[in-house]
Amino acid sequence: MKNKPYSCQSPKEGWSWETPPDKIPEEQVKETLTSDVIVIGAGISGLAASTRLAQKGLKVITLDKCDAAGGHGWQIAMLDSPLMRKMGKKIDKSEFVRRWLDVSGNQPNEDMVWLFVNNSPKVFNWLMDVLDEDVEQQIYTGCFKGPIFGEYEGSHHLVRKEGSRFKGRGGGPLLIEAFERQIALHGNQLLRNTKAHYLEKDENGRVTGVLATGEDGICRRYNGTRGVVLATGDIGGDLEMLEKFCPIALTREIDLFWPKTSNYGDGHKMAYWAGAAFDDAPWAPVMHNHPYGRFDSFYLHVNSRGERFMNEDTWMQAKSVRIGMQPEPSWAFAVFDAKWLDEFGERFHLLGGQGAMPLGMAINDVEWNPDCGLKEEVQHYIDEGNGYVCETIEELAEKMEVPYENLKKTIDRYNELCALGDDPDFGKRPELLTTVEKAPFIAIKMGASLLDVMGGCLTNADLNILDADYQPIPGLYAIGNCCGGMYGVDYPLLLNGNSYGRAFSYSQVLGRVLSGIPDEEEGGTEK
Ligand SMILES: Cc1cc2nc3c(=O)[nH]c(=O)nc-3n(C[C@H](O)[C@H](O)[C@H](O)COP(=O)(O)OP(=O)(O)OC[C@H]3O[C@@H](n4cnc5c(N)ncnc54)[C@H](O)[C@@H]3O)c2cc1C
Repeated sequence: MKNKPYSCQSPKEGWSWETPPDKIPEEQVKETLTSDVIVIGAGISGLAASTRLAQKGLKVITLDKCDAAGGHGWQIAMLDSPLMRKMGKKIDKSEFVRRWLDVSGNQPNEDMVWLFVNNSPKVFNWLMDVLDEDVEQQIYTGCFKGPIFGEYEGSHHLVRKEGSRFKGRGGGPLLIEAFERQIALHGNQLLRNTKAHYLEKDENGRVTGVLATGEDGICRRYNGTRGVVLATGDIGGDLEMLEKFCPIALTREIDLFWPKTSNYGDGHKMAYWAGAAFDDAPWAPVMHNHPYGRFDSFYLHVNSRGERFMNEDTWMQAKSVRIGMQPEPSWAFAVFDAKWLDEFGERFHLLGGQGAMPLGMAINDVEWNPDCGLKEEVQHYIDEGNGYVCETIEELAEKMEVPYENLKKTIDRYNELCALGDDPDFGKRPELLTTVEKAPFIAIKMGASLLDVMGGCLTNADLNILDADYQPIPGLYAIGNCCGGMYGVDYPLLLNGNSYGRAFSYSQVLGRVLSGIPDEEEGGTEK
């Protein structure tokens, strides 16, 4: 018999989150507020959903336990936009979905990937309307250009214009401000410092609302006549959930999400207690090379034993995962020599990806320019103690705290491969084999950080959360990282900014489903 997905109907495994909290005595629930929809979580997906629902004429109360939204992101993935068309950028959608499934171990529900893809063309004009067109539009073209891990040119940057009414510099902070403005303009409530505890159901099993405590310390019942939307982010802060669903994330040196109390899987737990089923493990961690220096590029990488451990010719997610998996201490170094900037410039057309390309060089197809700030960026990492410049390999090994004999052997072997013009050890593109031979020698430290964990509640294509029998739980919806179905095993960096992209695509779906009003063909007005 087929195993059911992980849910409270599965055999208990004794994890602490499986036990629902005690019910709050009715006399402590001081007030009931009713709206069409209750959105729990006012991060990027919750605010986008609340905005879209308000634009569709619904009354929405949005709750968040923190006093401000994170707004971490800058990149917004879209598969098609007027800007892309203007710049001649085209993504083959079928190829994109095939590659997505490949990276994700075939775990995603294909419907959910296509839901993102097919709703994506509506997003750009919608965001332009929300932002009153008061932004500069850019496309990230610093994508990784190597084989297999190639990234698509569909990540959008929306940047504050001088004199704009908005204060946010761009990306997440700017969008949060714009969404909050829309919510207020529609006369809807956004309640921060208001923590949701658990969901309530009626006698027919329909989710009716949630109990939450506000900043005044008062517990209230928030009922949504059309639905309750979980937009509570991911499980990155809950070590027990990571152990169960995404153990590889535990190899990270630091967590990058904020506010620091935000991502503890609260929505996952609330849904679980209400009967929801989850994605199968392992969930996909989003890992970046951020704890130390942030420049690694195509140069030789060595671990804390001074040994080469990977093909450096890949995107940042792969590097961060591989670094996290190294023997303790699990940091690494990118090692290069006096020729590095010239070598970089000569290979500029072959390079790309986060960690390889300074952001200023990564937009709108700009051409190589040695004065792009890369030299200063590397110097900055050295100045802050996350990199070293030395006249000898011996001195460098000492600074790096790696065994000199190992580092020497690794560099000798690497130089041998460079002379050979072939890398039978790890399979790097021959064009990227550059020697480490000319003093001064430079090493920039690398490490693995955790941004998010992509995995959550199973839903249907209406974003209605499913139980272990794949039946929708009436009244309960998910969006953002609490929503499952689209990721598995590893994070597909192939279109940077796909968390924001998915959240905005799915907010169009929620708007349509919960209002019953179909969308305009492309959202907003053609720009
Ligand atoms: C440093 C960094 C950079 C990133 N850059 C990008 C990027 O460029 N592009 C991109 O697409 N993605 C990026 N991401 C990922 C992206 O920020 C997240 O995937 C995204 O914020 C997820 O949106 P969300 O709405 O699901 O969760 P969040 O934005 O985390 O919001 C969840 C909200 O729910 C609230 N909440 C949780 N529990 C409760 C509760 N019990 N009651 C009430 N409220 C609750 C939290 O306080 C939080 O505000 C980045 C992440 C980091 C950390």
